[in-house]
Amino acid sequence: MAIRPIRLFGDPVLRTAAAPVTDFDKELRSLVADLTDTMVDAPGAGLAAPQIGIGLRVFTWHVEGVLGHLVNPELSLSEETQHGPEGCLSLPGLSLDCLRAQSVIARGFNMFGDPVTIEGTDLLARAIQHETDHLDGILFIDRLDREARKAAMRTIRESEWFGADTQVRISPHATGGFGL
Ligand code: ZN
Repeated sequence: MAIRPIRLFGDPVLRTAAAPVTDFDKELRSLVADLTDTMVDAPGAGLAAPQIGIGLRVFTWHVEGVLGHLVNPELSLSEETQHGPEGCLSLPGLSLDCLRAQSVIARGFNMFGDPVTIEGTDLLARAIQHETDHLDGILFIDRLDREARKAAMRTIRESEWFGADTQVRISPHATGGFGL
């Protein structure tokens, strides 16, 4: 179990679709443990495997004191939406309002290969949508409208961390506990 460096915006792994997990083995359980440790240390409310450089469809969350993980998620989204602040551990210091479904039903597997269904609302729903996007190479800034996205890109380009060695730096700033 280890805290791994969090990959930052600009690292190609964050733009690459992750592969489904096929082996529910010891390596997978060790990946879930590393994701959990890294997320709690950051601290963040969620973390997806590509954010630590692993191209597998796995993520963890830590919302309202509850830790969870999901493998190979499939989401059903509510029509009702929520508009609120969102951040990302791979985009340190950025927090912007982002439109998401208000609730989500996520079907997938736990690290032992048992089928699980997670029902989430509010922040848990937001975290699950955000992390599932990571598995498809999508970042939350992609979900912003054009003007907000342009402003976000400006902030990113001006950030100290941007253009630094994205391979070895551990995310230096938490986004108020709402990093995902
Ligand atoms: Zn993120």
